[in-house]
Amino acid sequence: FPADFAARTAASAALFERAKRSVPGGAGSTARLPRNGWEPYPLFIADGEGSRIRDVDGHEYIDYLLGLGPMILGHRHPGVTQAVVDAVRDLGTCFGLPYELEIEAAEKVVAAVPSLEQVRFTNSGSEAVGTAVRLARATTGRRLVVRFEGHYHGWQDTVYWSNHVDPHRAGPAAHPRPVAMGPGVPAELEDTLIVLSWNDPESFAALMAERGDEVAAVLTEPAVFNTGCILPEPGYLELLRELTRTHGAMLIFDEVITGFRFARGGAQEWFGIDPDLTTFAKGIGGGFPVAAVGGTREAMRLVADGTYSHSGTYNANVVQCAAVSATMDVLAQPGLYERQRALGDRLARGLEAIADENGVPAHVTGIGTVFQLWFTDREIRNWRDAAAHAREDVFTRWYQEMVVRGVLFHPLQFENLFVSLVHTDADIDETLNAASDAMRVVARD
Ligand code: PMP
Repeated sequence: FPADFAARTAASAALFERAKRSVPGGAGSTARLPRNGWEPYPLFIADGEGSRIRDVDGHEYIDYLLGLGPMILGHRHPGVTQAVVDAVRDLGTCFGLPYELEIEAAEKVVAAVPSLEQVRFTNSGSEAVGTAVRLARATTGRRLVVRFEGHYHGWQDTVYWSNHVDPHRAGPAAHPRPVAMGPGVPAELEDTLIVLSWNDPESFAALMAERGDEVAAVLTEPAVFNTGCILPEPGYLELLRELTRTHGAMLIFDEVITGFRFARGGAQEWFGIDPDLTTFAKGIGGGFPVAAVGGTREAMRLVADGTYSHSGTYNANVVQCAAVSATMDVLAQPGLYERQRALGDRLARGLEAIADENGVPAHVTGIGTVFQLWFTDREIRNWRDAAAHAREDVFTRWYQEMVVRGVLFHPLQFENLFVSLVHTDADIDETLNAASDAMRVVARD
């Protein structure tokens, strides 16, 4: 770290010491701990507004972490905040019974997302994915779930496998072996999973030819935002759609991150592919804790008739439905996505140019509103490529030089930079100026 980092962040350091006494590890999620990139301690945040966030030492950052994705409208969006405050004041928070605002929120999501005819709200992406996977198994009467290396689908046992794991344990790329992401996951679940390399049509076609009739679901992020940001190659999602249909398996798009970042209809609108089931979380509530699982009427049949129990005390509570309803309204503003994609693209191209000027091999993958700068000149098509070629040490060095210049994003190469729908041209200019200085230092090191 730059020499003055400890002095700059003394208040964060003190809060971290205090937090460790009452909060295990000193932060509320394992993803916020030093071992997950936040060395030597996470910054403690005082508040955020729009595209900016402030730490407890009073430093302001242009925020490309965006809460790991949910703050698609920036911090404290006035319209969404007001809608939630009004609803809680006027209605309450939780009834254990349905109410009209729930229908309004569901109607807006269903109207926006091409494949959706019905949707249920729940609390987190992990819950939504767990619901979709079990529903696919219940609907098809099959057990096997096909998923892909480098994708993350939440912390539930059934899917807590093969995101970022030791490449030496992952087997050969042609026949990866599922690797649990931590202790406590029953090893027996390995038999319920097939893990494949993504963006590899041959291995998927071969698997479906051999075992397609055993497959309950193919679960995928439509663009991989949990290994930087990797887009599907032309025809790949089409192949997933075609072969799941041929073999009577369900196609699940996990749009927890992609949802509402490409377009108001999700990545599925952008790529023109209709899955059977979709999960949403981060973007859907503009930063409030809400997730959703939805699909065609046929896919949701067992939920509708009550055979499949999708339950939850806090499902579709007032905060969630007010947040979803207001967020979907904001996202309907004409030209919003086009403008922000162009802005994000300017940032992405600018960062590539700065790396190039400094002789640092790097390139961007993703789209304007979420992307990653990979420190390698090798092509990144999937997790195997990233694990083999990306210079994680250089990325983290670059992060360190950026954070002390007032630009915040995730310190790890396998994460990404989020651009909100309220970042401005001035934010991008300031970021590129900081990046020029930071990259000079990285190149010199
Ligand atoms: N799916 C994807 C694609 C995700 O990125 C995440 C969270 N990073 C999840 C599921 C889990 O969501 P949550 O953290 O809300 O449980």
